[in-house]
Amino acid sequence: MTALIDARTIPNGQVLTPDLAIVGGGPAGISLALALKDSKMSIALLEAGSTSFDPEIQKMYTGAETGVPYAALDAGRLRALGGGTNHWGGWCRPMDAIDFEAKSWMPHSGWPFGRAALEPYYARAQTLVEAGPWIYDQKGDVMAGATGPVLPLGQGGLYTSWFQFSKTRDSVLPTQFGQRYGDDLRAAKNVTPYMHANVTGIRLAANGASVDHLDIATLTGKHFTVKPRMTVLAAGAMENARLMLASNDVISAGVGNQNDLVGRFFADNPIPRDVATLVSFAGPLAAFYGSNQTLDDGAIMRATFAPTTAFRRKAQVAGSLSTVEPAVELDETGKAAVITTALALGIHAADAQAYSLGCGMELSPDPDRRLTLTGEKDALGLPRLKLDMRIADEDFERFRRTLTELGRQLLASRIGLLRINCKDRQDWLKRMDWGHHHLGTTRMHADPKQGVVDADGLVHGIANLYVAGSGIFPSYSASNPTLNLVALTLRLGDHLKKVMA
Ligand SMILES: Cc1cc2nc3c(=O)[nH]c(=O)nc-3n(C[C@H](O)[C@H](O)[C@H](O)COP(=O)(O)OP(=O)(O)OC[C@H]3O[C@@H](n4cnc5c(N)ncnc54)[C@H](O)[C@@H]3O)c2cc1C
Repeated sequence: MTALIDARTIPNGQVLTPDLAIVGGGPAGISLALALKDSKMSIALLEAGSTSFDPEIQKMYTGAETGVPYAALDAGRLRALGGGTNHWGGWCRPMDAIDFEAKSWMPHSGWPFGRAALEPYYARAQTLVEAGPWIYDQKGDVMAGATGPVLPLGQGGLYTSWFQFSKTRDSVLPTQFGQRYGDDLRAAKNVTPYMHANVTGIRLAANGASVDHLDIATLTGKHFTVKPRMTVLAAGAMENARLMLASNDVISAGVGNQNDLVGRFFADNPIPRDVATLVSFAGPLAAFYGSNQTLDDGAIMRATFAPTTAFRRKAQVAGSLSTVEPAVELDETGKAAVITTALALGIHAADAQAYSLGCGMELSPDPDRRLTLTGEKDALGLPRLKLDMRIADEDFERFRRTLTELGRQLLASRIGLLRINCKDRQDWLKRMDWGHHHLGTTRMHADPKQGVVDADGLVHGIANLYVAGSGIFPSYSASNPTLNLVALTLRLGDHLKKVMA
């Protein structure tokens, strides 16, 4: 078993020459290393953090934010082995086929391939995130539905869809990739994991067409070089963009940024709280609507209301996953609405139960929602990031149309009603929270004028530099990204096996 090497012990000026350098040991970097662990290539996994949280290391992530209020840039990510999985919620759901499509009502949307390209990788991704057997929408109504009734929403735009959770039955927390797979990385003969190894520069050959080497620095003042045949950036959507923009000695706009796209199209999944109040006339909903339920086979599931593909097309809405939150007491107006509606429908609603409704939304791609470099530098001299965060009114409007349809279905099915709690932009913003799902910034597109990487994740114009993670998603989906980015990374693993053979 190889050790995790502490980069602070590497002599100054040393040059390491692995076949492949993976920059970053979050779920993307670790999944890639594990996917290639029995290959012939020698792999250096370069991780800036340590095996546990260190506030001094975390300070490297500090940045600035403008625009719509957003989480501090050092709050929504973790610079430690395992990356964001050290504090993730473990919510998993595969993207829908329509998420990959170019949608006429959503400019810049669409992937260079459909969901079929990820299909062969989802089962392995599900195993890596430890979300139990694959159930989701294929069998959710049957499996979880056996523990309580699925709402009969009838014909319409929304249906009960299913999350699964990364968490084994006996664990308290979702799978933390660093802890869970640290021993596997040590056991892999061809993988050498380096801790405290901050990549501070991607140095291109003089013609700008390939990576010559990577600069590595430690916070203790060591400097050494990694000169790989191939490099994969897996440092997270924000940090990948930062490294590419800051490495501007050969291409002045930055690596891969000849078309001014690196850092643009940043996105997250807004998760506004208490956007609506849902009333169930028949009393409490099945437990799986409001909380995670562990099934006999170990799967942990929770229901959510998702728009159907047909409704997304017809109403021109984005992806959204509305979740039932705590039960709430109705105010007098709400109670009156329930009584009068029940009378009008001729139904019994004395046991009616109200719930707050939350949501995970998909944003439309926006080139002006972007990361740029500031004049301020971190302890290793790398310029810090600034995020200009935006949400279009249309994003809220689309979600309002979705909620309106859910309300229509509840009434038409005579099972409940819905009151939307947001009247205007300020109302939405007041309720805003974020998923910390960093998306975009190095988007994928076959055309170099529209994307930073191609359909394999290869940076346009650079022969030996790939990007992994949700930063390459060109449009986003409302599904949480990690299961999907792990599947995409396993696909990259197969590609690298071919091109590096
Ligand atoms: C509070 C919270 C809750 C979340 N909940 C969910 C959820 O329920 N479901 C879900 O799907 N997603 C969730 N996420 C998002 C999830 O954490 C990310 O999707 C995922 O971690 C991204 O993986 P990654 O490997 O691309 O990047 P990261 O996890 O950010 O990993 C990047 C790695 O690169 C290292 N690194 C950075 N810079 C350098 C450098 N210069 N040199 C070397 N190494 C570097 C970092 O230390 C880190 O280990 C959540 C995130 C947060 C913050």
